[in-house]
Amino acid sequence: MSLSVFKKISLLTAMMLLVFSSFAFAATNPGGPSTNGQTNISSTLSFADVVKILGDIEHSSKGKVEVFTLDKYGKSEAGRSIYVAKVGNGPEKVWIQAQIHGNEKLTTEAALELLKTYASSNNKEVQKVLTEATLYFIPMYNPDGAEMNTRGTKIMSTGKLLDLNRDWTLDGFAGKESLVVYKYWADLKPDFAIDLHHQGLKQVYGTNEATSFSLGISLAPDGPTLPSYKNYNDVTRQMLAYVYDNMKGYGYTHIDRYQIVDSAKQVGYDIDIKGGVVSAMMMGLNYKGLNPDNHSHPAVFFETKGNTSEGSLGQKSNGYLTKQNYLALKSLIYGYVTGEIHEVDPDHWNDIPAYPLAGYWTDYNGIVPVGASGY
Ligand SMILES: [Zn+2]
Repeated sequence: MSLSVFKKISLLTAMMLLVFSSFAFAATNPGGPSTNGQTNISSTLSFADVVKILGDIEHSSKGKVEVFTLDKYGKSEAGRSIYVAKVGNGPEKVWIQAQIHGNEKLTTEAALELLKTYASSNNKEVQKVLTEATLYFIPMYNPDGAEMNTRGTKIMSTGKLLDLNRDWTLDGFAGKESLVVYKYWADLKPDFAIDLHHQGLKQVYGTNEATSFSLGISLAPDGPTLPSYKNYNDVTRQMLAYVYDNMKGYGYTHIDRYQIVDSAKQVGYDIDIKGGVVSAMMMGLNYKGLNPDNHSHPAVFFETKGNTSEGSLGQKSNGYLTKQNYLALKSLIYGYVTGEIHEVDPDHWNDIPAYPLAGYWTDYNGIVPVGASGY
């Protein structure tokens, strides 16, 4: 197949692709908790629920948690507020965002559970985090998508759905939410970010086990882009290898590296997505001079099994999946603020299960071959 044809097909496929929702070609139904084709979102949190819970947490925290909106920067396409909860008194600023994709609802529950822990626990490790860092939770980045149970937000002027995780580009922001959150990010200048997602069903390479949790870097390690950005190629791998080691002690989890998997060929593609929010953070996006010193920082993402679109997620496993996300998040924040992540060998990343690398799945040039440069 000629490269141009290949590229065209790749772009077409990419348009349908749910990154960062893992896209499994010809997905089989791996083991693990069954979804039985049933999706029950009645038990998941609505926008109003989230606002109420944030208020309750703030109230019961006796001043430890501060909840506010980003209304001074704007609102969502449909006019909803984007909420932030802040906790901690330390100099390191940690950014935690959930549900940029509106059909990835358990991420919001995990973020709120963790916020509750920081609001109320006297545990020594929790206190250490709150002394060393200030945490900024955005539990529902995409409130419109959350209400519609759709991946994207709906652009009011066109009625089209937009993936907010492709929208942090120099060309500008197509969705109102993007500019709101970008302006806040540029003002705040965090030191580190974690982005929470769900993926579809996937299998750990070489096993019959369904992946319960994937660890991801949105600019592929050792790929075409990341190695030229500070030490992020090392520190992001250290962070995720640290989480991997910590999660091993928690029992029934099947963790692997995030990839787009071709299950027929048993190969995987690492993603290299420049318009993704956490990618743009690492690249120091300076849109219209709003980030004049090109502030940037490392960022990683987590993918929890399933999503809340019809047929993908079973109610039975929700508690376990949320718990897993909560524990990984808590572990990474602790490892980051204590500096323990720096004790990990970056190459330990290679010990996390992954499919043989077939190329880089990009949002700027289709599939880029391994070893290619000049992108
Ligand atoms: Zn997602």
